[in-house]
Amino acid sequence: MKIIRAEHLGMCFGVRDAIALAVQTARERPLTVLGDLVHNETVLAELRARGVQFQTETPAVTTATVMITAHGASERRHAEVRARGLHLLEATCPLVHLAHRAVARLVAEGYHPVIIGQRQHVEVRGLTEDLAEFDVVLSEADVAALRERPRYGIAAQTTQPIERVRELVAALRRRFPQAEVRLVDTVCQPTKQRQHAAVELAQRSDVVVVIGGAHSNNTRELVDTCGRHCARVHHVQTAADLRAEWFAGAETVGLTAGTSTPDEVIAGVEQHLHTLATLPALELHAR
Ligand code: SF4
Repeated sequence: MKIIRAEHLGMCFGVRDAIALAVQTARERPLTVLGDLVHNETVLAELRARGVQFQTETPAVTTATVMITAHGASERRHAEVRARGLHLLEATCPLVHLAHRAVARLVAEGYHPVIIGQRQHVEVRGLTEDLAEFDVVLSEADVAALRERPRYGIAAQTTQPIERVRELVAALRRRFPQAEVRLVDTVCQPTKQRQHAAVELAQRSDVVVVIGGAHSNNTRELVDTCGRHCARVHHVQTAADLRAEWFAGAETVGLTAGTSTPDEVIAGVEQHLHTLATLPALELHAR
């Protein structure tokens, strides 16, 4: 059994930088992170062990320093923190900042903003909370339910698959042929690289293992993407979730991971797969 890694996988620079800032700050002073820093339980547990606190709402914060996560936040949320006299640490990924600026520009130019993404995701909330009017869509049914407007300005949650973004923009153009539809592609480069690499990996593999948090949006997207090119795809959070029988008869096993998956977790899964690769085929079936 051969084990191959996707060309691009795992933690992106935005998440790495945010975690490094949280770790360094927690060494110096008590810190609260507003919302999930990353959608990965292993990372969150480690940060909690270092004394980092997590809250979803500003009034619940009891430390003097508050960190905004890599997913960013609305201006309204920033103002809430400042109004309480708290010290604000910004870990917003520069590529999320780009998405915020793109949406602001579309609105300033008179477009009705439509965000392609998950309505409840912290990044999408950050992109929309300051807007007077907006829509969030994730499917053609959502597009069909939109009210007609003369001009739509579209941006996407940074972790959306670019194919979905293009499909939904095309659906919007079909639904409102008279309207002006402008897309600003805000899907980030690390997401595009990981999605593209996942397709290549899935096409070459008998089984694909996707590593990432249960609540990680981009990990779920990787599972879906791989599932379109490989019939045997498994999502694991750590090596402990691997099942030997998944690999019965497999010659090539592909490995990829979401943007919030730490290197050690990927290495642990890879190591365990190498152990399984040494088992006789019969044992893989029997386990
Ligand atoms: S997924 Fe993209 S936008 Fe989000 S933190 Fe990573 S690099 Fe930044």
